[in-house]
Amino acid sequence: MRQLAQNVYVHATSTGVNVGAILTSEGLVYIDAPMMPEEARAWRQNLAELTGAEPIYLINTDYHGGHAVGDPLLGGTIVAHESMWKHLTGMSESYRQKILDRWQKDYPNEFAEIRALAFARPELTFLGRMTLYCGDTTLQLIHVGGHTPATTMIFLPETRILFTGDTLVLDRYPYLGDANTKEWLEALTLIRRLDPTIVVPGHGDVCDSKATEPLSAYIRAIRAGVRQFFKSGKSKSETISKLRKQEWVMYPSSDKAGLDALIKTNISRVYDEMKAEARQKQE
Ligand SMILES: [Zn+2]
Repeated sequence: MRQLAQNVYVHATSTGVNVGAILTSEGLVYIDAPMMPEEARAWRQNLAELTGAEPIYLINTDYHGGHAVGDPLLGGTIVAHESMWKHLTGMSESYRQKILDRWQKDYPNEFAEIRALAFARPELTFLGRMTLYCGDTTLQLIHVGGHTPATTMIFLPETRILFTGDTLVLDRYPYLGDANTKEWLEALTLIRRLDPTIVVPGHGDVCDSKATEPLSAYIRAIRAGVRQFFKSGKSKSETISKLRKQEWVMYPSSDKAGLDALIKTNISRVYDEMKAEARQKQE
């Protein structure tokens, strides 16, 4: 656990997600939850011992399991953008099963409990922006979309600390599978414009807003690359096979197969976006 200000704590979990907690005069506000049940329980316990405060809210920055599976273990009213509720409510059985199958493979020991906890829906949702006034502390929830339709950042105006969720990830490729990359670029610009003193990314070390630049460059490069192939009439599979060989390897990975699948997913998503953008222009 790391203390960023008198009342702001972060913890980097074993799955790579940063979770946060803000102590207010009204109680404790969590930002995201550790996915591993053991870690979620320990996080709750450590904060209870340290602060003696009861949880009041738990804000999810997006609906991905790494941020939300442990929600029921922390307590507090679950707050998220309306599209998180919609995503979890409208999820098809086959999509749900696909996610469960992956977790079973990745986390065999914890899987039974993860399955029981997963897909808890938010209880309080918002559109656009929402401010929580918790006694002496203000939390501004800013919906940015981009990484997922539900992606939200949390800004604390008193300390100017910004929790970005997966809008900013460091030392790894971003997951573009659910993305709107145009919105994502705007969200990264917003991080720089907010001029925070401290930035807590979704994954990676605490940083400042300059750390957004390589990710902006990656998203711009993948968009420009895919657009070029799409415009010259190349199919999606041709685009993937040509572009995946390009030198976008910003972050080395020991998991070559996983990295290759991720890059393929990302190119595929951007190709679909280009197709939709072209269709919109025609209409
Ligand atoms: Zn995510």
